[in-house]
Amino acid sequence: MQQMTNYDIEQERELLTRMLEAGKNIIIETDQAAVLRNVKWPKAEFHYIVMPKAPIARVTALKPQHLPLLDHMMELANQIIEKTPLPPNEFRIGFEIDSFMNRLNMHVISNDFHAFHMQRIEHWNIFNTELFIDFQAVCALLLAQGSVEPMSAAKVKELLLRSELHCNRCEFVDKNFSKLKAHLYQHWTKRRAMMDMTKSIANTHLDLLHNHTFNARLGAVGVPPRILVPVRPLAAYNPIRIQFQPNPCRAQLQPIVPIIKPANLSWQANAQSNPTAKQAYKKQNKTANNAYNTK
Ligand SMILES: [Zn+2]
Repeated sequence: MQQMTNYDIEQERELLTRMLEAGKNIIIETDQAAVLRNVKWPKAEFHYIVMPKAPIARVTALKPQHLPLLDHMMELANQIIEKTPLPPNEFRIGFEIDSFMNRLNMHVISNDFHAFHMQRIEHWNIFNTELFIDFQAVCALLLAQGSVEPMSAAKVKELLLRSELHCNRCEFVDKNFSKLKAHLYQHWTKRRAMMDMTKSIANTHLDLLHNHTFNARLGAVGVPPRILVPVRPLAAYNPIRIQFQPNPCRAQLQPIVPIIKPANLSWQANAQSNPTAKQAYKKQNKTANNAYNTK
């Protein structure tokens, strides 16, 4: 493999800044910050980067006066999560304590860590050890002590190479990265199957909703209840306002309302005017009653 020169490394470190300034891979943009799709090194199924436009170098350069900006970045993170099929609690939002990039970048990453670019033990450890600092922790540190302390190079190295690999969603632990990858894949396939099933239920619900609208005219059913969108719990000490907009994908997951189909209404109406149908209707009722009584 060709050795990277210092110039190459500097170019890589500026990559996100160049993307931001060129407007490349931007999904959401405001006057203060932007959300970029992580097209180069996604480490999970959904992986986005929120960057401020102000030239803040890294998380350890943040000061309490940046709290409103962080609040705004979190709002953008919520907006991008709303565009995915996953609920907010399936995402990690925060910063690398020792980021390679030369501009502050906040990760919004789904907790599956199932991606082609999740290739080395360091990739896992960056997001699953103290090398990753959650958004709420950064805010709390800025409020409590005014800054986020940098980590020593020795500690960073130790954490990067930590070989005890704990799954982020169960008790699984192993020292073999390939085994962890295989294990993460199992979690991912289960979630995928669950999402497919949920989608199928949502589609069925849409069909039922169509019937519901039709049947509602006959006064047969009530109006389906609105779903309550889950809200991420926030640490009590954090005064930063975090809003979650209703997720349009989740909004389809309303509980299915049992529909009482007025199946016999047309039969009864018909039976009033049609003697043959009336007899058939009586016979049907008799058969149904006999069946009920013999139970
Ligand atoms: Zn697990």
